[in-house]
Amino acid sequence: MRIVGGRGYGPWPMPYAEPLTELTELIDRVEADPRDADARAEAEGRLAQLRGVWRELDSDEQRRLLPTAQRLSKSLEIGTHPPLRFFSGEPTAERLLAWLGYHGFREGQREIVEAALAGRDALVVMPTGAGKSLCYQMAGLARDTLTIIVSPLIALIADQQQRLRRDGHPAFMVSGRQTEAEVAAALQAVADGTARIVFAAPERFASRAFAAAVARRQVGLFVVDEAHCISEWGHDFRPDYLRLNRAIAQTGRPPVMALTATATPQVEREIVQRLGLSDPAAYRGGFDRPNISFDVVPLAGKGAVERKRRLLVGGLTDSANRPAIVYCGTRRETEAVAELLTSEGIAALPYHAGLDAERRTRAQQAFMAGEADVIAATNAFGMGIDKADVRSVWHWSIPTSVEAYYQEAGRAGRDGLPARAVLLSLRADLGRLITFNTARAIDPAAIAARHRALLRRSGSEQPVLVDSGGDDRERLELAILERCGAIELEPAGGGRLAVTVAPELDTGQAARILRTAQRRAWDAYRAVERFATADRCLRRQILDHFGDPRPAAPSGRCCSVCDPVEWPELRATPPARQNAPGTQVELSGEFAERLKAWRMERAEGKPAYTVCTNAVLACVIETRPQSAVELGAISGIGPAFLERHADSLLALLADPAA
Ligand SMILES: [Zn+2]
Repeated sequence: MRIVGGRGYGPWPMPYAEPLTELTELIDRVEADPRDADARAEAEGRLAQLRGVWRELDSDEQRRLLPTAQRLSKSLEIGTHPPLRFFSGEPTAERLLAWLGYHGFREGQREIVEAALAGRDALVVMPTGAGKSLCYQMAGLARDTLTIIVSPLIALIADQQQRLRRDGHPAFMVSGRQTEAEVAAALQAVADGTARIVFAAPERFASRAFAAAVARRQVGLFVVDEAHCISEWGHDFRPDYLRLNRAIAQTGRPPVMALTATATPQVEREIVQRLGLSDPAAYRGGFDRPNISFDVVPLAGKGAVERKRRLLVGGLTDSANRPAIVYCGTRRETEAVAELLTSEGIAALPYHAGLDAERRTRAQQAFMAGEADVIAATNAFGMGIDKADVRSVWHWSIPTSVEAYYQEAGRAGRDGLPARAVLLSLRADLGRLITFNTARAIDPAAIAARHRALLRRSGSEQPVLVDSGGDDRERLELAILERCGAIELEPAGGGRLAVTVAPELDTGQAARILRTAQRRAWDAYRAVERFATADRCLRRQILDHFGDPRPAAPSGRCCSVCDPVEWPELRATPPARQNAPGTQVELSGEFAERLKAWRMERAEGKPAYTVCTNAVLACVIETRPQSAVELGAISGIGPAFLERHADSLLALLADPAA
């Protein structure tokens, strides 16, 4: 047995088998009674000792000890909060604001709190960072009823809850990340009336203990954060959210406040409907980010990828654009981009969900601490990252939706100082997005097959248990079946869903819902395509997308459409071949004339190029496509063209006279 000296507590025997048990007992003692001074003193001593010898341990031992060290340190935090203080008296928005230590309302906050205090349902659409959480915190602390706050973003709500507790506010949290003792303490506080606010993840409503604690209270407000999750179809589809209206009913149908940062007007309607909001007070915040300038740099043709690299390196060599985040489409790209920047002498690290937790944490910390100037990341990066001085956000590939773009680009310039968002818009990326959408298309037969399979299984087990983290296609199929009323989904714990299957599937309705899903996917694509081709003010496009009618009000430069800049890396190369309206490509011959006549007819009085350019027609003549897929392969033909004109054009091409 090796002996390693520690600080103050005498030698620490190695390896740690016995002391580990001893430590666990010590942790239990501290957690059982946070005021036990002897236990605390011993725990603090042991922790100091462990920290003292840490560097002398080999990595295996460190790994083995880490969870215990973390528990030890966490157990010491319990009970160290200041005594609780409870708001009393007539709750007004002003008094609550002061109670929370703030001096002025931000836009919309007063109206939202007043609606909640008056017992109204509310729908709040407010960009991230505009002060959403303060609205429900104010309302939640106002009275001695219980406010339940549901959010899937555990790390974010944990931060909020801890901040509130540090200030003595009676806010608690129940989540799978807590120790048993913490959960028990929170449930106790909910049940005995101490808690005014309880934060919970949506799956918590599957827990009997939680329901039992909540049932002891009058629920005064039910808050659904990230409410857009309820209308998602694909990757962000949260089956747990579908049952929230049941949870709302079970808590006595209190007023509901639904909040989101990303809802388009369509999603907004769906939130109201699915949560059963009744005549909600609606607040839609301003989506403009005046201090961010938006650039889209279109890149196409030969050498485009190389130009993209030079643009990024050139941009990030300028220290005014750092710290920076570069959002990439794939994990591999994050590694390649980080490598490229590092080779150019810029301190950059990759970040994606495929890295182990330790590397991810290290990358994040290095970025937060300013040791790494640039982080090249997938969309896994950013949730809960609060770095105010990010000077630029780059998109190395075109994101899948304008919502995603806005969320990510919006991480620039949180400090209000000038910042920029740059989208390196490689034309080929649009093709990738089309392929992505096409691959996700589901035909009604697959829905019927999924229903039959579930029905078969439900003969032997009812409800059927499925993995809620299944692949995108499975999640989408479940979402559609749920919308048809052919199944009911209930969170079943352990990352699984309990599926109750109805015997019949209305195939007509399934087909209609599928069409809606499809249409929404293409709507999202078209919005991104319009943005990425930068044909009008980018800021205006974003505001319109979120239904924000206010005039764009940049505090500096607006965007690459309103205030074009010369990108030095682009100047050296010949101008990209653009399919400019109409003129560049000469079309001749009888067939070309017929195509032009066809185009004129399809344009319905608008300029011919609104249907397609001469370059597209030339390509059609050359390749003679026979299917919509072949047509779609032509540069310049997008889904909008395919939907409107494909059948008609293909018929023309199939005409023997052609
Ligand atoms: Zn503009």
